[in-house]
Amino acid sequence: MALACSTATAALAASGAIDVDRMAAAGVRMLPGRHLRLFTDLPARDAVDELPAVFDAAVPQWAAAFGVQPADCATWRVDGFLIKDRATFAALGVMPSEHPDFENGFARKDRLWLVEQPSDYYRRHLLLHEGTHAFMLSFLGGAGPGWYMEGTAELFGSHARQRDGKLQLDVFPASRDAVPMWGRVKILRDAAAADASWPLDAVLELDNSRAVGVEGYAWSWALAALLDNHPQFHDRFRKLARVADRPNFNRRFRQAIGADWGDLQCEWRAYAASVDYGYDFARMAMVHREPRDFAAAQAAATIRADRGWQSTGIVLPAGGKYRIAAAGRYVIAEDEQTGEPWPCEPGGVTLRWHAGRPLGELLAALRPLTSLAGGQRPRRADSGSSPAHRSFLPDFAHPQPIGLAATITAATDSVLYLRVNDAPAELAENSGEVDVTVVAD
Ligand SMILES: [Zn+2]
Repeated sequence: MALACSTATAALAASGAIDVDRMAAAGVRMLPGRHLRLFTDLPARDAVDELPAVFDAAVPQWAAAFGVQPADCATWRVDGFLIKDRATFAALGVMPSEHPDFENGFARKDRLWLVEQPSDYYRRHLLLHEGTHAFMLSFLGGAGPGWYMEGTAELFGSHARQRDGKLQLDVFPASRDAVPMWGRVKILRDAAAADASWPLDAVLELDNSRAVGVEGYAWSWALAALLDNHPQFHDRFRKLARVADRPNFNRRFRQAIGADWGDLQCEWRAYAASVDYGYDFARMAMVHREPRDFAAAQAAATIRADRGWQSTGIVLPAGGKYRIAAAGRYVIAEDEQTGEPWPCEPGGVTLRWHAGRPLGELLAALRPLTSLAGGQRPRRADSGSSPAHRSFLPDFAHPQPIGLAATITAATDSVLYLRVNDAPAELAENSGEVDVTVVAD
C-alpha cells in the first residue's frame, strides 16, 4: 500500500483558526487530547477515538529521540484532520491550500492531515508519520532531505504496543502480522529477489525536489532503520537531528560517517539483499578486523555461527586462487516442536534451506581492500569484469557457497569475509564456531 505523503518544508507559517462549531454542524467530531486535537468524519470507534492519546504518548518519545527538552514541548499543540470524505473538509475550507490533493497525508508544523487507511495499524502509523514531520518542523526548524525526512517519519511511525499496552515508537516489525497493510518490507524483499535493491547512493539522492514515491519510502525507511539500529552508526544517525534544517545535510552526513563510509556501503549491500521481518541488527552487524597480509602460504580464522558477516582479516592478493577448507560442529536452529538444537557442519543441513542454499552452509564474500581506506566505494561484484569472471567475484549480496571446501579467486586485493547461511531473524538460536583454513591453490 502506498503511504505517499508530502511535507512542505516551506509551510512553516502558523495555520489559521478552526471554526469548531461549523465543523460540528458538518458532522465532524472533535477528539480532544493534550497535544493533538483531531477532527474526523469517521464514526466513534476505540481505534479512532484513542488517536489523540496515541499522539500524546508519542510526544515524549520524539523529544527524547531528537534531543528536545520535555519542558520545551510541554505546551506543543497540533490540529489534525482524519478524513473519510475529502469533500466535507474541502467545503469547510480546512484542506492545505499549498497541497490540497495530497495522497495519504500531509503535515505542517502545527497541523496535519490523514486520509482514512485500511487497517487500524496503518491509520496509527500514518498519524505517527505525519506527527514526526510536525514535531521535526516545530522543534528542529526543518526535516532534512527526502530520504532522511521520510525515513525518519517511517522509523517513528513504526510502532508496537508493549504487554502493558504502552505505545512504543521506532519498532522494527517482528512479523507481517505486526504491521497489517503496511507493505514496506514486501517492497524491499521483492526488489532483493529481482536483484534490484537500491544502492545506498540512490537512496541518498532522494531530496525535496520531487515526490519520494512508494519505493523511495521503503528504501528511505530501510536506511533509517539500519542507521538507527546499527551499533556502529546509531549515535551519529541520532545527531543528524541537529542539522535537519541545514541545506548541506548530506555533506554533513558523509562527514559524520567519515572513514566508516566503506563499512556502511558493505553493510548496506548485505542488508538490502537480506532485510526481512525480525532482522536481528545486533547479530547481523558486520564484524570487521584489521587486514593482515596473506604472507605465508596458509592462514586460519574462526567464524561464529550466531553472527552475520565476519571478516577473517585475511587479504587475498589479486589474481590468486585460494582453497578454503572448513571444519566444526555448531548449532544452526532449534527444533520448533522439541526445542532440541540442530547440529550442523559447514556443508549445512538439507532439512531446511534459506536463500536457495542449505541452512548453515559456510558462505564467502570478498571485500575489495580499497573500500577499507575510508570514503572509497567498494566495486560492485560484476563491475568491469568479464562475464567469465563473474561467478568468481562473490560479494555480500551474492556470496559464494564454500561448504566443507571450495576454491575462491580474487580479482582484486580483497579481504575474505565469511558467515553461515541463516535468516537474519534467526541467529539468536545458533551457537558454536567454524574453523577455517586458507591455502594458496
Ligand atoms: Zn512523510
